[in-house]
Amino acid sequence: MTNTRLVHAFEPRGRGAAGVRLAVLALVLAAPAQAADRTILAVGAHAGDAEITAGAVLARHHRFGDRAVILHLTLGESGNPKLGAAAYGEQKKREALLAAQALGAEALFGPYKDGLLVANEESARYVADVIRQVKPTHVITHWRQSLHKDHAAAHRIVTDAVLLASIPGFESALPPHRGVRGVYYAENWEDAEEFKPYLYVDVTEDLQAWKAATAAYEFIRGGVSSFPYLEYYEALARVRGAEAGRRFAVALEVDPFAKKRVLDTLP
Ligand SMILES: [Zn+2]
Repeated sequence: MTNTRLVHAFEPRGRGAAGVRLAVLALVLAAPAQAADRTILAVGAHAGDAEITAGAVLARHHRFGDRAVILHLTLGESGNPKLGAAAYGEQKKREALLAAQALGAEALFGPYKDGLLVANEESARYVADVIRQVKPTHVITHWRQSLHKDHAAAHRIVTDAVLLASIPGFESALPPHRGVRGVYYAENWEDAEEFKPYLYVDVTEDLQAWKAATAAYEFIRGGVSSFPYLEYYEALARVRGAEAGRRFAVALEVDPFAKKRVLDTLP
């Protein structure tokens, strides 16, 4: 559907049906080579944030041959009223490794404590070094507005880090990385204020993998929090899918300046 629309949009005037078919074929053939050169880095404030919101997108890209990496800035270890932070942190780490494995992603763990994440020079430098190490083409993280201070801090840290990672003026053991093509913000029930769906990714064929992966977390299965995580995010994917004319989709937001499009004619 998308390919057909693209072809029509770029079809020279007077070109026949055979030309359209050839152009469709060219786009389909070009797709795998394009896909395999992506590295997607998803950064969550707490283990589970990145997977519940954007895990289906990561599973989809892994299926297309792309590399997916999740950085958990904290383990979210203070969120269990029945278990101390040390024991729950160990559990969350095990759950994060299982979830990453099921999504086809690599998991990295930041050194920060749940509830104490602060957007400052040190945390931005830490994430900038991760960006230089992972060399992502796409970064996904929290939207700027949030009920949770760690989420808002993660947004600020990651957006600052993308810039820091790219400039030679930030000196570290690793060379600058300027290859980030886009920074996207995941839809999270705690980060809803002023979030407007902008980019819709069809995840119809990845929803089962996403459900299986996120079920690694007890808090998502329903044993820790009263919030119905799985039901909420599956229903949300159905809503975004309906809006996009697909069955299930994940919606992402971008910065206002990233919405600017420059064309020679109307599309
Ligand atoms: Zn969180």
